[in-house]
Amino acid sequence: MINSINEIYCLGIESTADDFGVGISTCSGEILANISDGYIPEKGGIHPREAARHHAMVASDVLDEALIQAGIKSSDLSLIAFSQGPGLGPCLRTGATVARALAAYLNIPLVGVNHSIAHVEIGKLKTNATDPITLYVSGGNTIISAFNSGRYRIFGETLDIALGNCLDVFSREAGLKHKKGIPLGAALEKLALDGNNLVLMPYIVKGMDVSFSGLLTSAVALLRQKKYRLQDLCYSLQEIAFAMVCEVTERALAHTEKKEILLTGGVAANKRLQFMLSLIAKDHGVSFNKVPLEFATDNGAMIAWTGLLAFRSGIVTPIEESIVKLRWRIDRVDIPWMN
Ligand code: AMP
Ligand code: MG
Repeated sequence: MINSINEIYCLGIESTADDFGVGISTCSGEILANISDGYIPEKGGIHPREAARHHAMVASDVLDEALIQAGIKSSDLSLIAFSQGPGLGPCLRTGATVARALAAYLNIPLVGVNHSIAHVEIGKLKTNATDPITLYVSGGNTIISAFNSGRYRIFGETLDIALGNCLDVFSREAGLKHKKGIPLGAALEKLALDGNNLVLMPYIVKGMDVSFSGLLTSAVALLRQKKYRLQDLCYSLQEIAFAMVCEVTERALAHTEKKEILLTGGVAANKRLQFMLSLIAKDHGVSFNKVPLEFATDNGAMIAWTGLLAFRSGIVTPIEESIVKLRWRIDRVDIPWMN
């Protein structure tokens, strides 16, 4: 039962892709727990049903661990939030099932959260940004957004694959291995540090949108030619892909006249991308904010915190409306807590 708004503990479940995460937040944004278990494919990219099977297997342990870390009991929870989309169907459905079961068992409200909005909100919570242009770059998403007239508007996005996916597929083709704690993008970043020869690859920005599939095809073809050092190809792929998202972010910044840039998503870990964006921020006299890595990559804390923001604005998701939304765009959701 909720006695006072200050006593609310929200448990958030993240399961859009390869990570199953559980976070617990207080109403004032204190993150009491943030536990995650990632699925690492034996071969190739994420297989949605295999990832969902992983999530179902680890769910109970991750939940227990989060409650222990927070030092509370499940009966202390007042609200359950879950990633309702966008994401991979089987993965989303597994998280939603856990969330529905918990909310029904504890007899507390449920809130469906838009995963992309959660990345922006946790970024604002964990940095000084309040109303930024956000570059959100991950394994499944590439979105440049900013708040305007009640919603987060999309200023630019990928027309095909996500930036992280482009780096991951190239890395796998190059024989790099995804290990626990070392994502493929990080392995590629390390090699790129030893690159210095810029190999020409397609730079594709259409209007305010970006496209990575042609760049990926070209990078893989160059790799197979065996004419260039792998370090130079990693370096070139990073330089070109990052310059594309930076160009769009810079134009969105100039257009909106926002005073802050926020970088989030798993690719936000990349030091070269951070540096490029920080230069743009400096040029425009605005602040550059990067979300701490624990909260930049997919995590349950961001879902818990965004669930609370929504709940405080009077939003709940009845079970019959809790169906997952695989292609739920960030600009389809009203943001009453920003008004
Ligand atoms: P997420 O989808 O938010 O869980 O983030 C995972 C994505 O971030 C994957 O595509 C990773 O390869 C990518 N990633 C993680 N660390 C780095 C890094 N240091 N540089 C570039 N990409 C990274
Ligand atoms: Mg992930």
